[in-house]
Amino acid sequence: MSPTLHPRLEPVRETILKRNPGEAEFHQAVDEVLMSLGPVLERRPDYVEASIIERLAEPERQIIFRVPWVDDQGRVNVNRGFRVEYNSALGPYKGGLRFHPSVYLGIVKFLGFEQIFKNSLTGLPIGGGKGGADFDPKGKSDAEVMRFCQSFMTELYRHIGEYTDVPAGDIGVGGREIGYLFGQYKRITNRYEAGVLTGKGLSWGGAAARTEATGYGTVFLTQEMLATKGRSFDGTKVVISGSGNVAIYAAQKVAQLGGTVIAMSDSGGYVVDEKGIDLEIVRDLKENKRARISEYADLRKQSTFVADGSIWEVACDVALPCATQNELSADAAKTLVKNGCIAVAEGANMPTTPDATDILQEAGVLFAPGKASNCGGVAVSALEMQQNASRDSWSFEHTEQRLETIMKGVFERCQSTADEFDVPGDYVKGANIAGFVKVADAMLALGVV
Ligand code: GLU
Repeated sequence: MSPTLHPRLEPVRETILKRNPGEAEFHQAVDEVLMSLGPVLERRPDYVEASIIERLAEPERQIIFRVPWVDDQGRVNVNRGFRVEYNSALGPYKGGLRFHPSVYLGIVKFLGFEQIFKNSLTGLPIGGGKGGADFDPKGKSDAEVMRFCQSFMTELYRHIGEYTDVPAGDIGVGGREIGYLFGQYKRITNRYEAGVLTGKGLSWGGAAARTEATGYGTVFLTQEMLATKGRSFDGTKVVISGSGNVAIYAAQKVAQLGGTVIAMSDSGGYVVDEKGIDLEIVRDLKENKRARISEYADLRKQSTFVADGSIWEVACDVALPCATQNELSADAAKTLVKNGCIAVAEGANMPTTPDATDILQEAGVLFAPGKASNCGGVAVSALEMQQNASRDSWSFEHTEQRLETIMKGVFERCQSTADEFDVPGDYVKGANIAGFVKVADAMLALGVV
């Protein structure tokens, strides 16, 4: 435990640890926020009085359910499904669904907890939630994924709704899965309630630029952060971990802004292409073929594939971790610093370990936490909800423009809050405090509910 935890928060932390045993990722996410809140409590005894943090840490509702489904061989499989409806002070619960074998309650709670502050930071009226299942879509046929999604929704439908809880995608849940989930919801409820899910396809209620939004948003925010040092993406070398939706569109925006993405990865290893990653190859491998990144090196002879080792060993100016939690360790942070990296922005949720964050910040590397730098996805989800509510459909250009404005606003909020609390340039504290205060004020106004 860091010595900087405010004494008032020690018993709060103890209770959280005791009440949620064995949930390491959740503890990590809570700790990171608690470490930032001491100075807020000094100024706001009313938050202490109303036990705002104790109430915030406890999800409003946690749903765990059985998901039985039949595979292509006719065998019956059973997975576990989750939806944690964490906080609805600012709006309906909002957050993605993750389908990955590592999913258990602790992962869903860490993601749901982060989502509260992230969604608050966007400035849009959305609460926080998250869900998923320990289902592994890798190697499954389309028909198996469909049957799984239908079974998952057959339980989930009773808990969600456009005014209640609005899921979307996350790792392992993209347009295909959202389609199957929406189809089943529509069938069970006999309602074309487009606003119940976001990340939909463009012909059936989806928003232009939603697919691109998380990656683009990460780059927009990084651009703001670089500008504080008189820098831009132009001419920079960028390393992006991952090759999913976030990584691919972060890479696309970096290239549009004049940067060169020299490495990308998946769980099997990473590719380095000093001339710049050919994104069309990556998109074809990942979006169409659902193949491994190692195949990139077969197609681009000047590139190399590295199966073991860390992508963060590739020297770069800007690092964008866009794969998964705790993928950037203290050792990786030291290597980035040694290689002269000037900025790190989290495209994934909590990809940087706490000690790695400390190392980067102490070395003066610009650092954007995911709550700020990856909120573009959920922000455009909220814009999708707006379009669904008004039965409207905006152009790509208009939506991207809105996204850029939102990301500028998010950065300004983090920056001005960090200044206000005498930690200039500490965007971790800035994001945590700014995200927290808005939710806390709403909770105060709504009474003890
Ligand atoms: N899963 C994404 C996130 O981590 C998006 C959530 C959403 O669009 O609701 O923010």
